[in-house]
Amino acid sequence: MDLLKQKVAADGVVIDEKILKVDGFLNHQIDARLMYDVGQTFYEQFKNEGITKILTIEASGIAPAIMAAMRFDVPCLFAKKAKPSTLKKAVYQAEIHSFTKNTTSTVVVSDEFLDENDRVLIIDDFLANGDASLGLNEIVKQAQATTVGIGIVIEKSFQPGRERLEEAGLTVSSLCKVASLSGNKVSFVEDEA
Ligand code: 5GP
Repeated sequence: MDLLKQKVAADGVVIDEKILKVDGFLNHQIDARLMYDVGQTFYEQFKNEGITKILTIEASGIAPAIMAAMRFDVPCLFAKKAKPSTLKKAVYQAEIHSFTKNTTSTVVVSDEFLDENDRVLIIDDFLANGDASLGLNEIVKQAQATTVGIGIVIEKSFQPGRERLEEAGLTVSSLCKVASLSGNKVSFVEDEA
């Protein structure tokens, strides 16, 4: 994903040595064309895995997830950060600590939309400590479905997310790996190889 890397380098704003702001194309304003390509790339990586559902968490995961879902021709399901009164039925739920907000919330998915026949690709915008993906995987397990893999748009490789997910036996595929954030510069893992 050279285009993604270029976009991160050009438009990403380094907030501090741990947080990158990508509001210009992913987290606030969305570059739909770029997200289309992101969805296509995840499809190429997982197309032989019998994916039946894309699972993400609101709100920032939805854009890449829905584009992938369109390409796989499967539903896009997103975990809600608060249980709305309209969600009366039973839910699967997990506690997820938010890396950026430093709060912990219970996220929910209705049991109507996930079951033991599902083969799930979890997609998220960032991978930092891995809490969001591990929480989503917990929801997949509650449904007795199978997590086929984790697709991440931007992995911060200097944080322990990948290690934790791989320790849990999960396959992680990220489209762009950030090695460090310093000054106002984003360094990529590939640049250091
Ligand atoms: P994790 O759960 O892996 O620690 O963090 C992933 C979640 O936190 C993602 O859903 C993402 O929304 C948010 N996040 C983590 N790091 C960053 C970052 O550097 N920038 C932004 N904008 N969001 C981040």
